[in-house]
Amino acid sequence: MKISIFDLSGKVALVTGGSKGIGFGMARSLGRHGAQVVIASRGADAGKAAVEKLNGEGIKAFYVAADVTNKEEVDDLVETIVNRCGSLDILVNNAGMNIRKPLVEVEESDWDQVLSVNLKGIFLVGQAAAKQMMKQKYGKIINISSIFGSVGMAFQTSYAASKGGINQLTRVWADELAPYNITVNAIAPGYIRTPMTAGWLDDAERYQNIVNATMQKRVGELSDLDGPVVFLASDASAYVTGQILHVDGGWTAK
Ligand code: NDP
Repeated sequence: MKISIFDLSGKVALVTGGSKGIGFGMARSLGRHGAQVVIASRGADAGKAAVEKLNGEGIKAFYVAADVTNKEEVDDLVETIVNRCGSLDILVNNAGMNIRKPLVEVEESDWDQVLSVNLKGIFLVGQAAAKQMMKQKYGKIINISSIFGSVGMAFQTSYAASKGGINQLTRVWADELAPYNITVNAIAPGYIRTPMTAGWLDDAERYQNIVNATMQKRVGELSDLDGPVVFLASDASAYVTGQILHVDGGWTAK
C-alpha cells in the first residue's frame, strides 16, 4: 500500500484571498492533495469563477464572500464553514495588498489601509480560526508574509511593517497554540507573478534588478509555492512550528 505524508483527504481548508494570484494557486495545491477548499474574498464574481475552475478539476470547493477587515464577516465566515463542513483544519491567511510609495509620500490613509488588510485581517481570521481549531485540538495555520518582513526595501513602509508584524504573530501564536496541537508557520515569498505584481514587474530595469537579487536568477511562479504550502498544511510538518519559510530563490540568504 502506498501512503503519503502529504495527503490532505478529509481536511477542510480556508484560503482567504483565494480568488486569484497566490491564494488561488495555494487553494488549487491543497485541493489537488485531497482537501476540501473554501475560498473567501470580497469580489464574488472572481471568487465564484475560481471555485468553478477548482470544481472543473474535481476539487470540492465553495466560495464565501468576506472582507477580512470586518470582524462580523470573518466570524460568520468561520461559522459557515463549520456548519457546512463540520471542521476547519487548515487556514491559509493570505488576503493582502500593497501601496508602494516613498516614505515622505505615504498618506495616513495608505498606512491605515495596508495595515488593516495585511495585519488586522490576519489577526481577525487567525483568531476566529484558532477558536475552532482549539475545540478540535487540531489545526494548521499558514500566514502569508513576504521577504519584506525580513529584509529592508525602499518604498515598502506600510507593507514591510505589516509583514514584519505577521512574522511576530506567527511566533506568538505558535507558542500559544502548541498545547492544542495547532502548528502556526508563515510562508514569505519573494516576487511571484500575480495580478498584484504584474504592473510592477513590467518595468524592464526593475525586473532585471529583482532577478539579479535572487540566487536562482528568476522571479517565482505560482507553482513554486505548491510544495511549501502542502508541506505546512500536512502532517509532514508535525514538528515544525513558529517558522518563517522564505520561498524566494535565495534572495534573503544572500
Ligand atoms: P492579488 O492582488 O493577486 O490577490 C489578492 C487577493 O486577496 C484577492 O483574492 C483579493 O480579492 C483578496 N483580498 C484583498 N483584500 C481583501 C480583503 N479586505 N478581504 C478579503 N480578501 C481580500 O495578490 P497576491 O496573490 O500577489 O498576494 C497574495 C498574498 O501574498 C498577499 O498577502 C501578499 O502580500 C503576499 N505576497 C505576494 C507576493 C507577490 O510577489 N505576489 C510576494 C510576497 C508576498 P478581492 O479584492 O476580491 O477581495
